[in-house]
Amino acid sequence: MRKVCVVIFAAIIFFTGFIFFTPEPEGFPILEYHRVTNNPEFVDTVYNVPPDEFSAQLDYLQQNGYTTITLQDFMRVVHGKGNLPDKPIILTFDDGYADNYSEMLPILESHGMTAVVYVVSNFLDFPGYMTLEQARDLQRRGIEVGSHTANHLTLTELNQEKLEEEIGVSKTFLEWKDFQTIYSFSYPNGKYNHDMTKILEREKYLTAVTGEPGLNTTKTNPYLLKRIHIRKPHFGITEFKLRLLKAKIFAKISALTTGEN
Ligand SMILES: [Zn+2]
Repeated sequence: MRKVCVVIFAAIIFFTGFIFFTPEPEGFPILEYHRVTNNPEFVDTVYNVPPDEFSAQLDYLQQNGYTTITLQDFMRVVHGKGNLPDKPIILTFDDGYADNYSEMLPILESHGMTAVVYVVSNFLDFPGYMTLEQARDLQRRGIEVGSHTANHLTLTELNQEKLEEEIGVSKTFLEWKDFQTIYSFSYPNGKYNHDMTKILEREKYLTAVTGEPGLNTTKTNPYLLKRIHIRKPHFGITEFKLRLLKAKIFAKISALTTGEN
C-alpha cells in the first residue's frame, strides 16, 4: 500500500512539473464543436454544448485575450501575408446542423467572433440541417464554410473512386450552388490516412482538420491540423479550461517525442 502511495505521489509531482515547469508549447488551438442547442432531443448528448454554456465559453476566450480567426486567415499567414494575432483560436463546427444558424450564429456575432462551419453537402436542406441559403448566408457574414464531404461516410472504408467523389463532389457542388470557393475540409468521424491529403491537395483544398488533440503552428501539415473536441460540459468553464490545457499538454508531449508540435 505504501509503495502504491509513493508511486502515485511521484506521478503527481512529475505530471505537475511537466505541466508547469516545461516551456510553453508553440501554436494555437482549434476547437471542435457540433451542436449548440437546448432541443430536448439533443441537449444531453456529448456532441452538444448548450447555448448558455457556449456563450460563457466565448466570454472566457474574450476575457483572456483570444482572437478568433478562420482557416483562410491562417493560410494567408502561412503564405506570408500578414501575421497571426497575439492569441489566435479557431472555432469549428462539424456537420452543418440547423442550430449552427439559429442558435450558434447570434451568440458568435454578439461576441464579434468568427468561426468555420463544415457542412455535409448532401445533407443541406434536409430536416435538422441548415438550408443551402442559410449556409450561403454564413459566408456573407464572414463565417468560413468548409466541406465535411458529400455524405458523411467514413473515408477510410471507401475505395479510391468513391473516396475521390466524396472529397471532390462536395466542393464542386457547393461552388456550383453559388458558394464562395471552399478551401477547408474536415474528415468525418476523424478517420483519415495520408493518401487522402494528396487527393485534398489535388482538389484544391488548402486545409483539413483531424480529431487529434494538440496545437497548430505555421509548420503543421495543413492537411493534418489538430483539434480539441469540446464535449457537453458537466463542470462549466472549469472543464473548458481543462480542454484548452489538454491541447497544450498534447503539444508538449508531441514536442518531446517528435521535436515539433
Ligand atoms: Zn461529422
